[in-house]
Amino acid sequence: MRESVQYALDNHDEACRPGEFMRTGSSNMGQRMDTMRVLAIHAHPDDVEILAGGTMALLAGLGHAITIATFTAGDCGSAELGPEEIADVRRGEAARSAARIGATYVCLEMRDLAIFNDGPSRRLVVEVLRKTRPQLVLTSSPVDYLCDHEAASALVRDACFAAPAPNYHTGAADPAPSLGAIPHLYWMDPVGGEDREGLPVAPDFVVNVAGTFARKREMLSEHSSQREWLRRHHGTDDYLDTMERWTEERGRRAGFSHGEGFRQYRGHPYPQSPLLQELLGDLVARGR
Ligand SMILES: [Zn+2]
Repeated sequence: MRESVQYALDNHDEACRPGEFMRTGSSNMGQRMDTMRVLAIHAHPDDVEILAGGTMALLAGLGHAITIATFTAGDCGSAELGPEEIADVRRGEAARSAARIGATYVCLEMRDLAIFNDGPSRRLVVEVLRKTRPQLVLTSSPVDYLCDHEAASALVRDACFAAPAPNYHTGAADPAPSLGAIPHLYWMDPVGGEDREGLPVAPDFVVNVAGTFARKREMLSEHSSQREWLRRHHGTDDYLDTMERWTEERGRRAGFSHGEGFRQYRGHPYPQSPLLQELLGDLVARGR
Protein backbone atom coordinates (compact mmCIF):
# COMPACT_ATOMS: atom_id res chain seq x y z
CA MET A 1 0.00 0.00 0.00
CA ARG A 2 2.73 2.45 0.90
CA GLU A 3 5.12 1.82 -1.98
CA SER A 4 3.27 4.24 -4.24
CA VAL A 5 3.59 6.93 -1.57
CA GLN A 6 7.30 6.35 -1.36
CA TYR A 7 7.70 6.52 -5.11
CA ALA A 8 5.92 9.82 -5.33
CA LEU A 9 7.86 11.30 -2.44
CA ASP A 10 11.21 10.22 -3.82
CA ASN A 11 10.42 11.99 -7.06
CA HIS A 12 9.26 15.08 -5.24
CA ASP A 13 12.74 16.05 -4.07
CA GLU A 14 13.53 17.52 -7.48
CA ALA A 15 10.61 19.92 -7.17
CA CYS A 16 11.95 21.46 -3.96
CA ARG A 17 14.22 24.40 -4.35
CA PRO A 18 15.28 25.39 -0.86
CA GLY A 19 17.38 28.49 -0.63
CA GLU A 20 16.39 29.88 -4.01
CA PHE A 21 15.09 33.39 -4.19
CA MET A 22 12.31 34.85 -6.20
CA ARG A 23 10.90 38.19 -7.13
CA THR A 24 7.20 38.29 -6.51
CA GLY A 25 4.48 39.95 -8.52
CA SER A 26 2.69 43.25 -8.21
CA SER A 27 1.33 45.21 -5.22
CA ASN A 28 3.04 44.83 -1.86
CA MET A 29 4.42 41.41 -2.74
CA GLY A 30 7.40 42.93 -4.50
CA GLN A 31 10.06 42.18 -1.90
CA ARG A 32 12.46 39.32 -2.31
CA MET A 33 11.55 36.33 -0.22
CA ASP A 34 12.54 32.71 0.14
CA THR A 35 10.86 30.21 -2.07
CA MET A 36 8.63 28.20 0.25
CA ARG A 37 7.76 24.55 0.19
CA VAL A 38 4.00 24.34 0.69
CA LEU A 39 2.05 21.19 1.58
CA ALA A 40 -1.73 21.24 1.10
CA ILE A 41 -3.00 18.00 2.64
CA HIS A 42 -6.65 17.01 2.94
CA ALA A 43 -8.63 13.81 3.22
CA HIS A 44 -9.80 13.09 -0.34
CA PRO A 45 -9.05 13.92 -3.96
CA ASP A 46 -10.82 17.21 -4.88
CA ASP A 47 -10.96 18.65 -1.31
CA VAL A 48 -7.87 20.85 -1.77
CA GLU A 49 -9.14 22.07 -5.13
CA ILE A 50 -12.56 23.03 -3.73
CA LEU A 51 -11.29 24.75 -0.59
CA ALA A 52 -7.85 26.08 -1.51
CA GLY A 53 -7.27 25.58 -5.25
CA GLY A 54 -7.16 29.29 -6.01
CA THR A 55 -4.69 29.96 -3.22
CA MET A 56 -2.48 27.07 -4.34
CA ALA A 57 -2.51 28.50 -7.85
CA LEU A 58 -1.51 31.92 -6.48
CA LEU A 59 1.39 30.46 -4.47
CA ALA A 60 2.53 28.37 -7.44
CA GLY A 61 2.45 31.48 -9.62
CA LEU A 62 4.70 33.23 -7.11
CA GLY A 63 7.27 30.47 -7.55
CA HIS A 64 6.65 28.44 -4.40
CA ALA A 65 6.94 24.63 -4.58
CA ILE A 66 3.54 23.05 -4.00
CA THR A 67 2.69 19.50 -2.96
CA ILE A 68 -0.97 18.44 -2.87
CA ALA A 69 -1.52 15.33 -0.73
CA THR A 70 -4.63 13.32 0.06
CA PHE A 71 -5.05 10.73 2.77
CA THR A 72 -7.12 8.46 0.52
CA ALA A 73 -7.51 7.88 -3.20
CA GLY A 74 -11.28 8.29 -2.87
CA ASP A 75 -12.15 4.59 -3.06
CA CYS A 76 -15.78 5.14 -1.93
CA GLY A 77 -16.50 7.84 -4.49
CA SER A 78 -18.47 5.74 -6.96
CA ALA A 79 -21.61 3.61 -7.15
CA GLU A 80 -20.55 1.98 -10.42
CA LEU A 81 -16.85 1.17 -10.04
CA GLY A 82 -15.27 -0.98 -7.33
CA PRO A 83 -12.92 0.56 -4.75
CA GLU A 84 -9.68 -0.25 -6.55
CA GLU A 85 -11.06 0.84 -9.93
CA ILE A 86 -12.32 4.22 -8.75
CA ALA A 87 -9.16 4.77 -6.70
CA ASP A 88 -7.07 4.27 -9.84
CA VAL A 89 -9.23 6.77 -11.72
CA ARG A 90 -9.06 9.33 -8.94
CA ARG A 91 -5.28 9.10 -8.44
CA GLY A 92 -4.95 10.03 -12.11
CA GLU A 93 -7.44 12.89 -11.79
CA ALA A 94 -5.64 14.29 -8.74
CA ALA A 95 -2.24 14.09 -10.43
CA ARG A 96 -3.54 15.89 -13.53
CA SER A 97 -5.15 18.56 -11.38
CA ALA A 98 -1.91 19.17 -9.46
CA ALA A 99 0.04 19.28 -12.71
CA ARG A 100 -2.07 22.23 -13.90
CA ILE A 101 -0.21 24.43 -11.38
CA GLY A 102 3.09 22.54 -11.54
CA ALA A 103 2.41 20.85 -8.19
CA THR A 104 3.30 17.33 -7.13
CA TYR A 105 0.54 14.94 -6.02
CA VAL A 106 1.03 12.44 -3.19
CA CYS A 107 -1.51 9.88 -1.93
CA LEU A 108 -1.09 8.43 1.55
CA GLU A 109 -3.19 5.40 0.49
CA MET A 110 -5.51 5.25 3.46
CA ARG A 111 -9.12 4.24 2.83
CA ASP A 112 -12.26 6.36 2.79
CA LEU A 113 -14.14 6.53 6.10
CA ALA A 114 -11.15 4.86 7.77
CA ILE A 115 -8.90 7.80 8.71
CA PHE A 116 -8.14 7.60 12.41
CA ASN A 117 -5.82 9.60 14.64
CA ASP A 118 -3.72 6.66 15.81
CA GLY A 119 -0.02 5.82 16.01
CA PRO A 120 0.50 4.15 12.62
CA SER A 121 -1.37 6.94 10.82
CA ARG A 122 0.58 9.63 12.66
CA ARG A 123 3.88 7.98 11.70
CA LEU A 124 2.79 7.92 8.06
CA VAL A 125 1.90 11.64 8.08
CA VAL A 126 5.16 12.51 9.87
CA GLU A 127 7.12 10.70 7.16
CA VAL A 128 5.27 12.68 4.47
CA LEU A 129 6.17 15.91 6.31
CA ARG A 130 9.80 14.89 6.65
CA LYS A 131 10.05 13.96 2.96
CA THR A 132 8.30 17.05 1.62
CA ARG A 133 9.86 19.34 4.27
CA PRO A 134 7.27 22.15 4.09
CA GLN A 135 7.59 25.48 5.87
CA LEU A 136 3.85 26.01 5.30
CA VAL A 137 1.11 23.38 5.76
CA LEU A 138 -2.59 23.80 4.95
CA THR A 139 -5.04 21.12 6.02
CA SER A 140 -8.68 20.36 6.71
CA SER A 141 -10.82 22.08 9.31
CA PRO A 142 -11.02 20.41 12.75
CA VAL A 143 -14.80 20.79 12.49
CA ASP A 144 -16.46 19.69 9.27
CA TYR A 145 -19.34 17.58 8.00
CA LEU A 146 -17.29 14.43 7.49
CA CYS A 147 -15.34 12.26 9.94
CA ASP A 148 -12.41 11.85 7.54
CA HIS A 149 -11.94 15.62 7.34
CA GLU A 150 -11.88 16.02 11.11
CA ALA A 151 -9.53 13.07 11.67
CA ALA A 152 -7.17 14.30 8.95
CA SER A 153 -7.03 17.72 10.62
CA ALA A 154 -6.02 16.25 13.98
CA LEU A 155 -3.46 13.95 12.38
CA VAL A 156 -1.76 16.78 10.50
CA ARG A 157 -1.75 19.02 13.60
CA ASP A 158 -0.09 16.34 15.71
CA ALA A 159 2.28 15.22 12.95
CA CYS A 160 3.53 18.82 12.58
CA PHE A 161 4.41 18.69 16.29
CA ALA A 162 6.13 15.30 16.02
CA ALA A 163 8.05 15.82 12.76
CA PRO A 164 10.91 17.86 14.33
CA ALA A 165 11.41 15.36 17.19
CA PRO A 166 14.45 13.22 16.23
CA ASN A 167 13.48 10.47 18.67
CA TYR A 168 10.09 10.03 16.99
CA HIS A 169 10.67 7.20 14.55
CA THR A 170 8.27 6.56 11.69
CA GLY A 171 9.38 3.02 10.87
CA ALA A 172 9.77 3.91 7.18
CA ALA A 173 12.19 1.77 5.19
CA ASP A 174 14.23 4.86 4.27
CA PRO A 175 13.27 7.45 6.88
CA ALA A 176 13.87 11.11 6.13
CA PRO A 177 15.60 13.25 8.77
CA SER A 178 13.47 15.13 11.28
CA LEU A 179 12.37 18.66 10.43
CA GLY A 180 14.29 21.64 11.77
CA ALA A 181 11.13 23.22 13.18
CA ILE A 182 7.37 22.90 13.39
CA PRO A 183 5.93 24.30 10.13
CA HIS A 184 3.33 27.09 9.99
CA LEU A 185 -0.09 25.41 10.09
CA TYR A 186 -3.35 26.68 8.61
CA TRP A 187 -6.84 25.22 8.38
CA MET A 188 -8.94 25.50 5.25
CA ASP A 189 -12.64 26.28 5.60
CA PRO A 190 -14.96 23.39 6.38
CA VAL A 191 -17.07 22.43 3.36
CA GLY A 192 -19.76 25.10 3.03
CA GLY A 193 -18.16 27.13 5.83
CA GLU A 194 -20.24 25.32 8.46
CA ASP A 195 -19.86 22.78 11.23
CA ARG A 196 -22.00 19.65 11.53
CA GLU A 197 -24.90 21.58 13.06
CA GLY A 198 -24.86 24.20 10.33
CA LEU A 199 -23.26 26.89 12.47
CA PRO A 200 -20.92 29.19 10.54
CA VAL A 201 -17.18 28.80 11.01
CA ALA A 202 -15.59 32.21 10.42
CA PRO A 203 -12.16 32.34 8.77
CA ASP A 204 -9.33 34.46 10.17
CA PHE A 205 -8.81 35.87 6.71
CA VAL A 206 -9.96 35.47 3.12
CA VAL A 207 -7.63 35.23 0.12
CA ASN A 208 -8.70 37.02 -3.07
CA VAL A 209 -8.61 34.28 -5.71
CA ALA A 210 -10.35 36.21 -8.49
CA GLY A 211 -7.15 36.11 -10.52
CA THR A 212 -6.75 32.33 -10.29
CA PHE A 213 -10.38 31.24 -10.17
CA ALA A 214 -10.34 30.03 -13.78
CA ARG A 215 -7.36 27.82 -12.95
CA LYS A 216 -9.13 26.57 -9.82
CA ARG A 217 -12.11 25.55 -11.93
CA GLU A 218 -9.80 23.82 -14.42
CA MET A 219 -8.18 21.88 -11.58
CA LEU A 220 -11.51 20.73 -10.18
CA SER A 221 -12.78 19.84 -13.64
CA GLU A 222 -10.08 17.16 -13.76
CA HIS A 223 -12.08 15.31 -11.08
CA SER A 224 -14.78 14.43 -13.59
CA SER A 225 -15.51 11.03 -11.99
CA GLN A 226 -17.17 12.92 -9.15
CA ARG A 227 -19.79 14.71 -11.23
CA GLU A 228 -22.28 11.80 -11.20
CA TRP A 229 -21.30 10.59 -7.73
CA LEU A 230 -21.96 13.97 -6.09
CA ARG A 231 -25.25 14.30 -7.96
CA ARG A 232 -26.33 10.88 -6.74
CA HIS A 233 -24.96 10.81 -3.18
CA HIS A 234 -24.75 14.48 -2.17
CA GLY A 235 -27.65 15.88 -4.20
CA THR A 236 -25.27 18.38 -5.82
CA ASP A 237 -26.55 19.68 -9.16
CA ASP A 238 -23.13 20.33 -10.67
CA TYR A 239 -20.01 20.15 -8.58
CA LEU A 240 -18.21 22.87 -10.53
CA ASP A 241 -21.10 25.33 -10.18
CA THR A 242 -21.47 24.46 -6.50
CA MET A 243 -17.79 25.22 -5.93
CA GLU A 244 -18.10 28.47 -7.88
CA ARG A 245 -21.09 29.65 -5.82
CA TRP A 246 -19.26 28.87 -2.60
CA THR A 247 -16.06 30.65 -3.72
CA GLU A 248 -18.13 33.69 -4.72
CA GLU A 249 -19.95 33.69 -1.38
CA ARG A 250 -16.72 33.48 0.64
CA GLY A 251 -15.21 36.25 -1.46
CA ARG A 252 -18.26 38.50 -1.25
CA ARG A 253 -18.05 38.67 2.54
CA ALA A 254 -14.50 40.05 2.25
CA GLY A 255 -15.13 42.41 -0.65
CA PHE A 256 -13.76 40.12 -3.37
CA SER A 257 -15.53 38.49 -6.30
CA HIS A 258 -13.97 35.12 -5.36
CA GLY A 259 -12.37 34.09 -2.07
CA GLU A 260 -11.04 31.23 0.04
CA GLY A 261 -11.01 31.36 3.84
CA PHE A 262 -8.32 30.16 6.24
CA ARG A 263 -7.58 30.05 9.96
CA GLN A 264 -4.08 29.89 11.40
CA TYR A 265 -3.47 27.31 14.11
CA ARG A 266 -1.76 29.14 16.97
CA GLY A 267 -1.47 26.46 19.62
CA HIS A 268 1.71 26.36 21.68
CA PRO A 269 4.47 25.96 20.32
CA TYR A 270 3.42 26.31 16.68
CA PRO A 271 4.72 29.32 14.67
CA GLN A 272 2.67 32.44 15.32
CA SER A 273 3.93 34.73 12.56
CA PRO A 274 1.53 35.33 9.64
CA LEU A 275 3.60 33.59 6.96
CA LEU A 276 0.81 32.85 4.47
CA GLN A 277 -0.71 36.31 4.91
CA GLU A 278 2.67 37.94 4.24
CA LEU A 279 3.30 35.81 1.14
CA LEU A 280 0.00 36.98 -0.36
CA GLY A 281 0.14 40.61 0.80
CA ASP A 282 -2.87 42.71 -0.16
CA LEU A 283 -4.67 39.70 -1.63
CA VAL A 284 -5.65 38.96 1.99
CA ALA A 285 -8.58 40.55 3.87
CA ARG A 286 -9.93 39.91 7.35
CA GLY A 287 -12.58 37.18 7.36
CA ARG A 288 -16.18 37.51 8.45
ZN1 LIG B 1 -13.39 15.09 1.47
